[in-house]
Amino acid sequence: RSLTVYVSRLPAPAAAGAVVVVHDTTELRRLERLRQEFVANVSHELKTPLAVIGSTVEALQDGAADDAETRDVFLARVADEAARLMALITDLLSLARIESAGQVLAAVPVRLDRAIAECLERLSARAEEKSLTLVEKPPADGPAGVEALADAGALRQVLDNLVDNAIKYTPDGGRITVRWSAAGGQAWFEVEDTGIGIGPADLPRVFERFYRADKARSRDAGGTGLGLAIVKHLVQAMRGTVRAASRPGKGTTFRVALPRPG
Ligand code: ADP
Repeated sequence: RSLTVYVSRLPAPAAAGAVVVVHDTTELRRLERLRQEFVANVSHELKTPLAVIGSTVEALQDGAADDAETRDVFLARVADEAARLMALITDLLSLARIESAGQVLAAVPVRLDRAIAECLERLSARAEEKSLTLVEKPPADGPAGVEALADAGALRQVLDNLVDNAIKYTPDGGRITVRWSAAGGQAWFEVEDTGIGIGPADLPRVFERFYRADKARSRDAGGTGLGLAIVKHLVQAMRGTVRAASRPGKGTTFRVALPRPG
């Protein structure tokens, strides 16, 4: 641990003793290191697509545009990288908003069945592109209309991120199941996929900003490495918990529990 010790003598006439102030600076240093890492990561993530855009445009100016086929490939690359930058900036702004103390999330009753159905509806076209089956599993015992105490917008973002990841990391023809229920004072839902899974060494780290178990695949799928960090922040801000369990090569399950009204 690093400790900073300040000793100051009290001025006379109270000079009967001294004041010792001990600050534990370990945590401060850790935070500063994390901040520096974050800035380095952001710079790298922003610069990479910009460098690709720059060099591709240069190649187009230097004659690559003369051949129609090459031109189209290069223009598509520019569009891809621009989309990546947009996604990254959107996620960074989300994260900044969530982390700034000013953001207050609502805690109102929200029906999980509706939020889940709407999420699957929004992402159905993407799932279809990969021939993935989306399955909704209401509670086996009890009504489907389980309510969670949540912020509707934040819940939407959490669901979208988890289902979007399930789509990204599941090979064609797989299945994504979203189940939900209530237990005790909590409402919970799970997003389960039959995808590539996450190894035990990576699993505890996937909620960290910019952590990717599979860099190439995340990049190809348009990932920013920020989705799960956003999920964790939002769930915690709603006084809930999120956990991941996975079997590499078999699939992954993310489970979110939120408080229930009343
Ligand atoms: P990304 O934008 O890279 O998907 P996330 O923060 O959403 O970033 O996820 C972090 C990493 O966790 C991903 O890069 C991926 O390696 C892993 N991951 C997340 N969800 C899944 C999943 N459903 N199946 C397998 N790996 C996943």
